[in-house]
Amino acid sequence: MELSKQSVLNIGTLGHIDHGKTSLTRAITHTWTDRHSESIKRNMTIKLGYADAVIKKCDKCEGPGSYTTGDKCEGCEGTPKPLMHISLLDAPGHETLMATAIAGSSVIDAILFVIAANEPCPMQQTKEHLMIINILGLKNVIIVQTKVDIVGKEAAKAHEKQIRNFVKGSIIENAPIVPVMPNLGINVNTILEMIANMPKPVRDTASDPLMYVVRSFDVNKPGVEADRIAGGVIGGAIIKGTFKKGDKVEIRPGIKMAKSKKDTYEAITTVIEEMNAGSEKLEQAVPGGLIGISTEIDPTFTKADGLVGNVVGLVGKLPPSVSSITIKYTKLKRDDVPEQGIGENEPMILGMGTTTTLGYVKKVKKDTVELELKHPVCTSKDVKIAVMRNLAKRWRLTGYGIIS
Ligand code: ZN
Repeated sequence: MELSKQSVLNIGTLGHIDHGKTSLTRAITHTWTDRHSESIKRNMTIKLGYADAVIKKCDKCEGPGSYTTGDKCEGCEGTPKPLMHISLLDAPGHETLMATAIAGSSVIDAILFVIAANEPCPMQQTKEHLMIINILGLKNVIIVQTKVDIVGKEAAKAHEKQIRNFVKGSIIENAPIVPVMPNLGINVNTILEMIANMPKPVRDTASDPLMYVVRSFDVNKPGVEADRIAGGVIGGAIIKGTFKKGDKVEIRPGIKMAKSKKDTYEAITTVIEEMNAGSEKLEQAVPGGLIGISTEIDPTFTKADGLVGNVVGLVGKLPPSVSSITIKYTKLKRDDVPEQGIGENEPMILGMGTTTTLGYVKKVKKDTVELELKHPVCTSKDVKIAVMRNLAKRWRLTGYGIIS
């Protein structure tokens, strides 16, 4: 079978700050760059860290040593054959950005859950991330134990027991725990072998296509002549369906119009001129990895992630943009958050799609919450959103809602 040009698995990384997510990702992709410091934008949208890799397998050898993302087999020094494209997405760690992590995770198939051996398990964010894994029902999780070289063998074994205890009763209680030393390349190939053997998600390529915009750019160099200006470029994750070159598409909610008391937005209509997955040009694109789309949009709208949080679909096939939603709310069990009923006019931060938006509670009846949104969103029934409440003067992830 021909190697797919698109990513087969989207793999998210989670873990407490400084636990070694970045060096692990770099060891796998060889090309990882840190998120830009300016990545935190208005609406608390965050640029997901992102990189692609190709897992290769040597067909003369067996075992972990025969899996690599490099150019040589570790076993026989032979040339391994490309097996599959994967994409790594680094979800933001801070709790106030966690809602976006949940939103971004609507496109995540598997998780590398990084836990460092030089700190007791669980640390605060490690706890929160396990909560997210549970909410999302992510079962393809590899627990990666890092910094084992710092603490030594005995302490690493004891720490592994702490991890086992910590995940007990969660949906990942039987997840493998793999000690790695990314800087030395030790056990990274074990992770690659496990990823290669994960069940492949079944993609819906037949429905009307839908993409979440994760990034948007202006690719023109300053001072370019007016008749040579290239249209805006958007990067996103396709949730379902197939986009084809030449498709007429709509972007919603679109561009913010003149400021009035309430913000209004206008949808953008454009044509897909080019599509790519990394350096590969695509005639059509399906779910898997991040897809870049060149459009005819005025690049001033796409520059500096201006269109992040929008959705893309065929003209006339997207749900309408709405300014109020009703959700069925499920509260998380958290012993570190005070108990408090939901009140009228209470503000909530809602993580939906690839963005967060502020909502105000209009009505509460048992677990049904009606919300008025500050910015319109293009969303539909049954979409899962993250809910954050301001309790004891802090924004806390308190539960999730399903749009009804
Ligand atoms: Zn080999």
